[in-house]
Amino acid sequence: MQKVFVLDTKGKQLDMCHSGQARRLLKAGLAAVYKRFPFTIKLKQEVSNPTLQPYQLKLDPGSKKTGVAIVNQTTGEVVFAAEIEHRGQTIKSTLDSRRAIRRNRRSRKTPYRKPRFNNRTRSKGWLSPSLLSRVANVETWVRRLIKLCPITGISLELVKFDMQLMQNAEINGVQYQQGQLAGYELREYVLEKFQRKCAYCGKRNLPLQIEHIVPKSRGGSNSVTNLTLACEKCNLKKGNKTALEFGYPKIQAQVKLPLKDAAAVNTTRWAIYNKLKAIGLPLETGSGGLTKFNRTLQDLPKTHWVDAACVGKSTPSNLDINKVIPLQIKATGHGSRQMCSMDKFGFPRTKAKAGKKFFGFQTGDMVKAIVTGGKKVGNYTGKVAVRTSGFFNITSQKTTIQGIKYTYCKLLFACDGYSYSYMKGEWRSSRP
Ligand SMILES: [Zn+2]
Repeated sequence: MQKVFVLDTKGKQLDMCHSGQARRLLKAGLAAVYKRFPFTIKLKQEVSNPTLQPYQLKLDPGSKKTGVAIVNQTTGEVVFAAEIEHRGQTIKSTLDSRRAIRRNRRSRKTPYRKPRFNNRTRSKGWLSPSLLSRVANVETWVRRLIKLCPITGISLELVKFDMQLMQNAEINGVQYQQGQLAGYELREYVLEKFQRKCAYCGKRNLPLQIEHIVPKSRGGSNSVTNLTLACEKCNLKKGNKTALEFGYPKIQAQVKLPLKDAAAVNTTRWAIYNKLKAIGLPLETGSGGLTKFNRTLQDLPKTHWVDAACVGKSTPSNLDINKVIPLQIKATGHGSRQMCSMDKFGFPRTKAKAGKKFFGFQTGDMVKAIVTGGKKVGNYTGKVAVRTSGFFNITSQKTTIQGIKYTYCKLLFACDGYSYSYMKGEWRSSRP
């Protein structure tokens, strides 16, 4: 059964409860709906000395989507899961089009305006607007969730490979064993570095072995810089020779180059890390190798939110993902600041915007309209598109109905820059 966020009378976070229990409380009038997405109720009666479970908020930031999971550390249950879809591409394309319009205008035969004084500098931690929006999305959601749930710590996947751990692997020996993390991480690193193909014959899709460039019998070490991939055939053929003697001098040079994004991970994740550190909760970081290790060990499907649940050393060994219905959160932004849209010649195509809110509603708000009279009798729930006339469009999952008068509309959820839907079980099919 899906879990629901609960707040007490003063808005303090309590343990999450079952959706059935929430329904009973709402029905009995002991609680009220506080927020629809994520579903939160607020109790109307005092709770004395509540005991709180340890909840860990876990994040797996990606370029298109970020996985979010809240895990009850004692039971191992994933109590909340979500995937945040970022709007990086949208931001880039709107900025591109704005740039094109401005350039176009400057190059036209219009009254000459002197170029602006070049006083624009980029500060040190500068991120492009599309990357910045990803960071802001993640921070927004972390801050929202800690207001709804008594989170005790945050886990963040920060690096792809844990270089420190691999250094230790050198000492322990790298013979790959299922269940040994250091060896696993090292193997993943070598696989990534040599693009999952035999370094000698270049074949893919066949069992590959970790191979020593200078053989162990001749003093070769287990260090990352002495390992490559080989198919069984090449490995046998190479035998006791070094890669150089075997006729592959390039491999020895290639192996010395560091993997580009292994140590220096993408700047976005560091920016997220710094933002989360400022929040003040204990922050744990993990590597992508560890995430995959945790996930494969428990035989879980690969989705963004399951990956999030597997981030970090604190991951319980009995993760229970079956009760949760993940929330799909899509960043939509807060509309455009452009006063009117242009035609292809750069001339205004529409009237200037008269405002954002009309009759108390804003485009993107979720409303319920119960129309009792006229041609459009019926119940409509969905997103509203406001019109100055007061006759709105309501878009539900199936259709759009036009011309619903604002007096029939009741606000369910004010637009907050995100749109929501539930992932009903489709992720289950991705189970290996
Ligand atoms: Zn081969």
